[in-house]
Amino acid sequence: MTKYIFVTGGVLSSLGKGIASASIGTLLKSRGFKVSMLKFDPYINVDPGTMNPYQHGEVFVTRDGAETDLDLGHYERFVGVDLSRHNNVTAGQIYSSVIEKERRGEYLGKTIQVIPHITGEIQQRIREVAKKDRAEIVIVEIGGTVGDIESLPFLEAIRQFRLKEGKENTLFVHLTLLPYIPSAGELKTKPTQHSVGRLREIGIQPDFILCRTQISLTREARSKISLFCNVEQQNVIQAIDVDNIYEVPLRFEKEGLTDKILKQLNLTSKKKDLKKWEMWVEKVNKAKNKVKIAVVGKYVQMKDAYKSIIEAFTHAGVANETKVCPEWIEAEEIEEGREKILASFHGILVPGGFGSRGIEGKIRAIKFARENKLPFLGICLGMQCSTIEFARNVVKLKGANSTEFDPETPHPVIDLLPEQKGVEKKGGTMRLGEYECRIIEENSFSKRAYRKMVVYERHRHRYELNNKYREILKKAGLRIAGIYPEKDLVEIIEVKDHPWFVATQFHPEFNSKPQSPHPLFRDFIRAAKEKKGG
Ligand code: GLN
Repeated sequence: MTKYIFVTGGVLSSLGKGIASASIGTLLKSRGFKVSMLKFDPYINVDPGTMNPYQHGEVFVTRDGAETDLDLGHYERFVGVDLSRHNNVTAGQIYSSVIEKERRGEYLGKTIQVIPHITGEIQQRIREVAKKDRAEIVIVEIGGTVGDIESLPFLEAIRQFRLKEGKENTLFVHLTLLPYIPSAGELKTKPTQHSVGRLREIGIQPDFILCRTQISLTREARSKISLFCNVEQQNVIQAIDVDNIYEVPLRFEKEGLTDKILKQLNLTSKKKDLKKWEMWVEKVNKAKNKVKIAVVGKYVQMKDAYKSIIEAFTHAGVANETKVCPEWIEAEEIEEGREKILASFHGILVPGGFGSRGIEGKIRAIKFARENKLPFLGICLGMQCSTIEFARNVVKLKGANSTEFDPETPHPVIDLLPEQKGVEKKGGTMRLGEYECRIIEENSFSKRAYRKMVVYERHRHRYELNNKYREILKKAGLRIAGIYPEKDLVEIIEVKDHPWFVATQFHPEFNSKPQSPHPLFRDFIRAAKEKKGG
């Protein structure tokens, strides 16, 4: 019998509902349960793949090639699982599958309505996750904030779900904010009361309230919330601000949240195993040595766009007993002659991206890294720009470019594959998900990092290194370190005679986990640390 935990959010967005859900996952896993995660996103897009990073933040890519919400990244990192397309479901997917079924005649004779058809489809998706992932506990996060029109069908669906599955098999957790008003010297509970009021109007009585707060929860606030929200006082849990998100599960554990959840779900712990996590978190907090990495990108005002990169830095930092301090540099600001600002960094990373804005700045940053022997990691677009830089400045192919930015370039070193040329639909049509990468150079940074010849990495791109230019690039000294053998596509390039210069067509950041940092990130940070030391 699977147990279900539903996490909703109140008052306002960005309270860390994803981290809270993921943390509950960490805790239940530490007690020996097989946990899976599901995120519902109430927007109408089928997936976030077509959204601007400013709207949505990072698009997290699963192994099976789904473009998903960035919370799935937190889930994978906190629970140590690999998720797939059924672990992130949007309102767009729910509606389109109901409409498809209607067209197929599956509801012949009936009027299709939000209740019971949309809500029924939502419930089916929850059960599917339990079954496919063979989970003992499924944690379901409902995106958005209680009170939004869009999330209503999801809330209605989970209300019915409890009725069907029973009280001892379901649990409602509500995350809210307690604003601190300095002039009154008080934590305010009113927004929480209102938000829980909205939930109760719909028929959902939360079992737990997680209170996001800047200062310790006072006894007074706790009892007020308990009384007004009809939640036992011991189930009003403090979720205090922390600098290090990986500390959140430890804080919840201290509040006794795991035991209380298990008790309510009628489960007994199979083991207790948080020690490793605790030790790892301590290492994050203890690292004193700092390396400064310049991230030269185009969405630098929106840090959420680079979520997995930031987390991969943290993991790689711990492996090197170093704190990685990324600094965000707007690619457009690296105009001719401005590259010198990069000299104060210990490494440069050029991340993925789309469209031509900022491209020339990125290329200048890469040239600077190559010539000044600064450790460099290029990811996806970062790899494509590295190829362009090498072609222009080393091979001297004037005007070399990607056809994404200059369809008329005399040297299309980055181009679409023939099968991508006819693609008109934008949604879900890129090269997505996990593909094999074979390391073909024994003497390479990549081989030294991975210590094996075959690896699997996640992709999200349309363009590729143009094989027509491969030989001439190689002859000029570019090292082709990894390829996708089935189609003979270049996956990793490296620059020789350099302390550490690697650029990948795939996204290594999606595969980094706290206790198993990505080998390329780990070695990149090691090189940066050496640069600093030397
Ligand atoms: N815009 C490039 C492409 O489509 C790179 C994509 C990326 O960096 N994720 O191939």
